[in-house]
Amino acid sequence: TKPLSRKVALVAGGSRGIGAAIVRRLHTDGAAVAFTYISSAARAEDLVASLEGQPLAIKADSADPEAVQRAVATTVEHFGRLDILVNNAGILIHGMVDDVSVADFDKMVAVNMRAVFFAIQAAVRSMGEGGRVITIGSVVADRTGFPGSSIYSMTKAAITGLTRGLARDLGPRGITVNNVQPGPTATDMAPTDPALAEKVRSLIALGRLGEDREIAGLVAYLAGPDSGFITGSSLTIDGGYLA
Ligand code: NDP
Repeated sequence: TKPLSRKVALVAGGSRGIGAAIVRRLHTDGAAVAFTYISSAARAEDLVASLEGQPLAIKADSADPEAVQRAVATTVEHFGRLDILVNNAGILIHGMVDDVSVADFDKMVAVNMRAVFFAIQAAVRSMGEGGRVITIGSVVADRTGFPGSSIYSMTKAAITGLTRGLARDLGPRGITVNNVQPGPTATDMAPTDPALAEKVRSLIALGRLGEDREIAGLVAYLAGPDSGFITGSSLTIDGGYLA
């Protein structure tokens, strides 16, 4: 039997990049998977069509806490239970200190932080012993590395505190809460400017960006049966960016 047989997972932000790799991996490991997206309807449809048994794609804007709560409810209604929540949706709006607008600040906080909390709050109502909550933070919580992403770094650092706090709330219920902190990973979010891309690469001990499936592998481990004693942790997977 597969490690996640009979488990149900919801991946917030699963249409592209790391989130899509997580959807594929949890599905391969035997879970029934739902995922959300906001704008990539075609990418979401392609992902659904590519997987046998077909995951459930839900359009839900993480900037709207009620939409996030409805996505959790839809998943529970559709599959009858919820065992694994992966908060992957995230946005990076670049801006130097003088240029950050209130709107950009609020949007990053809404998607990267507020949605994470309210998805977890809604999900754990349906989770029992063995439940798994995993959020995709970022290595920028420990090393930002470049100017122009102070608010993004703030939101990702917040996930480390939220993860510890919720591990204490949910430990007595047998639910683990962890934070996966990728380093630079080859997705649409990676820098497109060749000079900046090369500079990022030069800071990574392994000399290359991470691949989405490598991040998904760590998420699958944390979602699975062998990780039951890990909670409140922020696990970095960065090719040595911090080394
Ligand atoms: P991408 O930009 O490639 O994909 C982002 C995903 O999040 C998409 O599925 C997108 O949906 C979804 N999403 C974005 N905004 C919303 C929203 N408002 N509501 C619902 N879904 C939304 O990003 P990555 O795969 O690179 O990043 C995934 C996570 O990993 C993020 O949290 C990011 O901060 C983090 N991370 C990424 C790193 C990297 O180098 N790539 C490094 C460290 C952390 P749609 O397709 O519909 O827009």
